[in-house]
Amino acid sequence: MPDCNVTILGAGPYGLSSAAYLQAAGVETRVFGEPMSFWENQMPTGMCLRSHWAASHIADPKQKLTIDEYCRQCGNHLPKPIPLERFIAYGHWFHSQAVRNLENRVIRSVTPDPRGFKVLLADGEEFTSRRVVVAAGIGAFAARPVEFEGIPSSLASHSTETKDLGQFKGRRVAVIGAGQSALESAALLKEAGVEVEVIARQTKLNWVGLHPGMHHLGALSRLLYSSRDVGPAGISRLVALPNLFRKLPRSLQNRIAYRAIRPAGSGWLGPRLEGVPITLGRTVVSAAETGSQLRLRLDDGTERLVDHALLATGFRADVSRYPFLPPSLVQRLQMAGGYPVLRSGLESSVPGLHFLGKPASWSFGPLLCFVSGTEFAANALLDRITRENGTH
Ligand SMILES: Cc1cc2nc3c(=O)[nH]c(=O)nc-3n(C[C@H](O)[C@H](O)[C@H](O)COP(=O)(O)OP(=O)(O)OC[C@H]3O[C@@H](n4cnc5c(N)ncnc54)[C@H](O)[C@@H]3O)c2cc1C
Repeated sequence: MPDCNVTILGAGPYGLSSAAYLQAAGVETRVFGEPMSFWENQMPTGMCLRSHWAASHIADPKQKLTIDEYCRQCGNHLPKPIPLERFIAYGHWFHSQAVRNLENRVIRSVTPDPRGFKVLLADGEEFTSRRVVVAAGIGAFAARPVEFEGIPSSLASHSTETKDLGQFKGRRVAVIGAGQSALESAALLKEAGVEVEVIARQTKLNWVGLHPGMHHLGALSRLLYSSRDVGPAGISRLVALPNLFRKLPRSLQNRIAYRAIRPAGSGWLGPRLEGVPITLGRTVVSAAETGSQLRLRLDDGTERLVDHALLATGFRADVSRYPFLPPSLVQRLQMAGGYPVLRSGLESSVPGLHFLGKPASWSFGPLLCFVSGTEFAANALLDRITRENGTH
């Protein structure tokens, strides 16, 4: 027998939610990770959530630990959009209410074992587990354009590396990208007294939430939009049903997924960006260190001399970049690009190894990239585990 039935690797929204479901159902589960660490350490101070209130609840089996309940219990009013630090506090409260014996420890490796998996912790403890649920998030997937290879992070950092944007006060910064992270970082930089320019490949900016009235039309709104809040009218409904979404032809899934999560900024950012130069339809073709500065060359031949480039260039899922998965295990995974191909229960082709969050989005759609996918993921996982005889 293995030492443990289920090991959850990760204590962000997906790890916490699935731990809440499994523990409440009596499934013996060990949970590892620093709670809400990605949100705490790798998102900029002052940021607000892009997801709406109703799409920001971390799911628990009784649907009781919502943000509304958090506000009630803490006697706190939360503004909309939800500020990052308040969401982090909500995540910690969720943990304290729903998850027992969370171990704030790092898992160094997960290797196959006749009893399931051998799990080695960074502090040296080793144990075996029948199942491992990887809920390790997107931190390892940060995408840095090749043009910036070799440039030190003091001159060009990925958006996940720079929490305090106020450090650039009085300096000149180019933000590369035009998604929420890029646009919100540009607004925060401007407000911190930084001379900032946004440079992006796409030829126009996309916005979400520009017509909030569309969400207040009663039955019509409910017909068009799911409260999961991923994607525009109509698409939102489809994406909220991952088991239906995955039955669509792949090319249609790809088109819908792109439309649902293409780079876009929240409508409320527009006024905050007033006065920020935004150069669209341009690519940075080279970046070179020039003394203490960085010289960027664009594909129209123009140049920018900046003190820093903030690369809000997103994330490319590739589970081989998870440092705890050895190449020998990754090789056994059926993959599509860097995504594991998953079946029901979000289980990979290696029996007993599950992936939640963004890595699950190739198989179950873009809902899995957001907090609002936690209910689907935790239910699917619980269902798979409790269907197997003798796992309790
Ligand atoms: C700037 C920004 C803004 C965003 N805004 C929103 C938003 O408004 N709404 C929304 O729904 N989504 C948003 N997202 C997406 C968000 O990242 C995901 O929704 C969410 O983090 C997914 O949760 P997760 O549990 O998969 O991963 P994470 O929250 O990243 O959690 C990963 C966990 O794994 C742990 N871990 C990793 N490696 C190990 C290891 N070896 N051993 C032990 N533990 C480990 C970490 O400590 C952490 O606890 C945003 C993302 C970014 C970058």
